[in-house]
Amino acid sequence: MDRAAAIAGNIAAVRDRIATAAARAGRDPAAITLVAVTKTHPPELVDAAIAAGVHDFGENRVAEAAEKIPLVAGRDNVRWHLIGHLQRNKARKAAGLFDLVHSLDSLRLAEALDRYMHENSTSPDVVPRRLPVLLQVNIAGEVQKEGFDVAGGTQNRDVLDRFCQDVARILALGALEVRGLMTIAPYVADAEEVRPVFRQLRELRDDLASRFPGASWSELSMGMTGDFEVAVEEGATLVRVGRAIFGERRNS
Ligand SMILES: *Cc1c(COP(=O)(O)O)cnc(C)c1O
Repeated sequence: MDRAAAIAGNIAAVRDRIATAAARAGRDPAAITLVAVTKTHPPELVDAAIAAGVHDFGENRVAEAAEKIPLVAGRDNVRWHLIGHLQRNKARKAAGLFDLVHSLDSLRLAEALDRYMHENSTSPDVVPRRLPVLLQVNIAGEVQKEGFDVAGGTQNRDVLDRFCQDVARILALGALEVRGLMTIAPYVADAEEVRPVFRQLRELRDDLASRFPGASWSELSMGMTGDFEVAVEEGATLVRVGRAIFGERRNS
């Protein structure tokens, strides 16, 4: 079987598993977007996934995405998601490349992106295109370091209040459009162990939606190859799947 046929088969299998997990939770599978994670893989494999009906692709590095995207034949009909940590010195480039930034993880980065969106617009009087973003939060605390620190935030009011102050300032930035939250669960052998992480992300989202009702909080980006079914059961609207579609990466 050639590579493209294998990828098409893998995509069908992942979609099936998403639908089954959604059914278990009484959710509509159409409410879950599969983001195929193509980091380290060549543009031909992106095109194979497009041919198999995928419309959303995730990359974790700006430089790699900037090289790859122009080489993808079907690039204009798909959405590009930045899922990896963004350094402020790459914010300008990222603002021009991506349709959704999942990894907004600090107020300073938000301010940098906002500034570049304004600079990229044609004139100071024209309202710039708003860049859709998700706030990446570090639910599990010490296990992984990127994201806003909300570890224990559902119990610890100080941590939550600090986060909410940042959220208020990000929501006030004219060129960003917050759509929800993203998290990366700790790596575990049994995905059931990270169910509380996904549940807490959803609960945090619900809390933010009641504190900041003027913003949109509909998206929950959570779940990867090892744990996307549990994430779907807990309310994921975007799952980021790499290895289950393209196989193991040689490096990442
Ligand atoms: C690499 C990566 C993924 C995909 O991981 P797989 O285990 O290959 O599915 C998802 N999210 C982020 C943030 C990643 O860096």
